[in-house]
Amino acid sequence: MNSIEKWMYECDGKEMVKILNDKKYNAVYVDNISEAKDKILSLIPDGSSVALGGSETLNAMDLLNEIRNGNYYFYDRYQDLPFKDIVEIMRQSMLADYLITSTNAVTRQGELVNMDCTGNRAASMIFGPKKVIVVVGANKLVDNMDDAMKRIERVAIMNTKRLNHKAPCKDTGKCEDCMTKGRLCNYVSVVKNGAKFEDRFTVIVIGDKVGY
Ligand code: SF4
Repeated sequence: MNSIEKWMYECDGKEMVKILNDKKYNAVYVDNISEAKDKILSLIPDGSSVALGGSETLNAMDLLNEIRNGNYYFYDRYQDLPFKDIVEIMRQSMLADYLITSTNAVTRQGELVNMDCTGNRAASMIFGPKKVIVVVGANKLVDNMDDAMKRIERVAIMNTKRLNHKAPCKDTGKCEDCMTKGRLCNYVSVVKNGAKFEDRFTVIVIGDKVGY
């Protein structure tokens, strides 16, 4: 990325922080994924229970290994286990002290818009975990809900490809509104603001292009 593109993402990231703080989230700006990782870890006390939402943004900072090897109780749904056991870990993780996740789009109205396969991440952002830490690149800022939905459909296709789900978009690059078992886009959640439970949401905004 050249310096002008980076500057543009910095501008968008700072705008996103202002929008989110106006909507009562605790939003902070960081310059890159390394700073984002340090910020996340500084927020979580040793001994806390932690759940991770599936995310390319979190993958980019290798957070899985950091949490696995840290002094936390980790609801580790990334183990090689039968699906029914993974679902049970997902269920238990809804009572975690901390959920760390990304979000698929942030609107200029301050909404966090999320598409989910099992619904675990989308639901946990709304209720369950005591604290939610959202890490998001400035590239996910969109004007409104229509643009958010367009964005998350495109992201769903890329995630279907990345995760090798059995769905037609993996081959065609287009959404076919499939009814396959491998359908990735089953649940949408929208967090309208952070006002209801003060200090529950921290949003770490990276002034860069991170994740899809
Ligand atoms: S509905 Fe099916 S085809 Fe469309 S993006 Fe989701 S998984 Fe792909």
